[in-house]
Amino acid sequence: MKPAGPIPPMFADQRGMLTIAGRGADAWAQQTPVFVYDPAIVTGQVTRFRAALPGIDLHYAIKANPHAGLLAAIAPMLDGLDVASGGELAKALAVKPAAAISFAGPGKRDEELAAAIMAGATINVESEGEGARALALADRLGRRPRLAVRVNPDVELKGSGMKMGGRPSPFGVDAVRVPALVRQLIGGGADWRGFHIYAGSQALDAGAIADTQAATVALAARLAEEVGQAPPLVNLGGGFGVPYFSGDAPVDVTAVGARLAATLAERPMILADSRFAIELGRWLVAEAGVYLARIVDRKESGGETFLILDGGLNHQLAASGNFGTVVRRNYPIAIAHRMSGPVEETVSVVGPLCTPLDRLGDRVALPRAEVGDLIAIFLAGAYGASASPAAFLGHPPAAELVA
Ligand SMILES: *Cc1c(COP(=O)(O)O)cnc(C)c1O
Repeated sequence: MKPAGPIPPMFADQRGMLTIAGRGADAWAQQTPVFVYDPAIVTGQVTRFRAALPGIDLHYAIKANPHAGLLAAIAPMLDGLDVASGGELAKALAVKPAAAISFAGPGKRDEELAAAIMAGATINVESEGEGARALALADRLGRRPRLAVRVNPDVELKGSGMKMGGRPSPFGVDAVRVPALVRQLIGGGADWRGFHIYAGSQALDAGAIADTQAATVALAARLAEEVGQAPPLVNLGGGFGVPYFSGDAPVDVTAVGARLAATLAERPMILADSRFAIELGRWLVAEAGVYLARIVDRKESGGETFLILDGGLNHQLAASGNFGTVVRRNYPIAIAHRMSGPVEETVSVVGPLCTPLDRLGDRVALPRAEVGDLIAIFLAGAYGASASPAAFLGHPPAAELVA
C-alpha cells in the first residue's frame, strides 16, 4: 500500500456521496470524465489571502486553470491576471480591464506583443531583444507601451517544486543587466510599470517563502536605486504550494503575511510608494476542482487489483506523476459514493491509455468499488484539463463544469 495525499478540508469530512457545491458527485457526473470547479472554494482562498496579506495585490496566473467560466466567476475578486501567451491574453481581456493584466513568458511573438500594446496590458519584458521589439512595435502602432521587466533573480525559493531563479534561465533578464534595460525602455518612451520577480513554485514552507520575499524586496530596491526611479509595482512572484501528497501541510499564509508586513515596514525609501503584488496559480484554484471518472473495468493481475477508468493522464497528467514531479506519489483519491468509507482493499487506479504511465492511484487503500462507480481525484482545479495531452490516444476530452 502507498499513501494518498490529504483530501482537501472542504471534502475530507464528508460521508457517503461526495458533495461538490451542494450537489452530489453522481449528479455532476451525467457525462464522464468531468472536471467540476467550485468558485466558492476559490473565494475562500481569496478571503484567506486578504486576511493574511492586507494591502498586497492578488494576481492570478491563469495558466493554472484558464477555463473561461471559472475565470469569469473569480476575476472580480482579483486585482490582476497574469498571462503567458496571446491566447491567455485574449481570455483575460474578456473578464478584466487591460490595466489589470500583465503578460510574461519567453518568446513572445510580434503579434502577441502588438495585441498587448494595443489593449494596454503590461508586458513583462523577458530580454533586451524583446524590449527592443516592443518599443519598435509601439512606435509603429502609435501607442505608449506599458512595460515591466522580468528579473531572473539571484535568489531562489528553497524547497519549491520548480526552481526558476538563481541560475541560467530562459525566464527574465539577469539581475545585473536589468537597470540598463529599464533605463533603455524609459528612454524609449515606455510607461515603465516596475519589476516582475518570480523565484519558484509549489513551496509549502512559510519561512522559505518569507525569506524569498524579503530577498526579493531587497533586490527590487537595489535595482530601483540603480535605475534611479521608483517602480510603480513590484510583483514579488508567488510560489504558494498546495498539499498534494501524504505528509504535506498547507502553507501558513498568516505567517507569510506577518513576515512580509515586517519586511515592507522596513523597506528602503525608494520603494515607499510602490505597490506590491503576489501572483498565485495553484494555491487559488487547485482545491476548487475535482476530477470524476467512471470505473469501466475491474481486473486482477499477479495478485493486484486494477480499477480501470474512462479517463486518465490524457485529462489529469499531473496526478499520474508526469507533470514536473521527480518521484511519483498519489494524489488524494476517493470512491465518490463512499466518502469516509472503511478501507477494504488495496487497488491501483489506472486510465484507459495504452501506456504504463497512465496510473492515477498506485496501490491505494480504498473502500471496495465496482464497475460503474465514480472515482474522485482531488486537487484537479490546477494544471488539469489544460495541462494534459487530451489528444493522446484519441479518447474524448473531459467535460468541464463550473458550479
Ligand atoms: C506558472 C507561473 C505561476 C503560477 O504558478 P503556481 O505554482 O501555479 O502558483 C506564477 N507566475 C509565473 C511567472 C508562472 O510562470
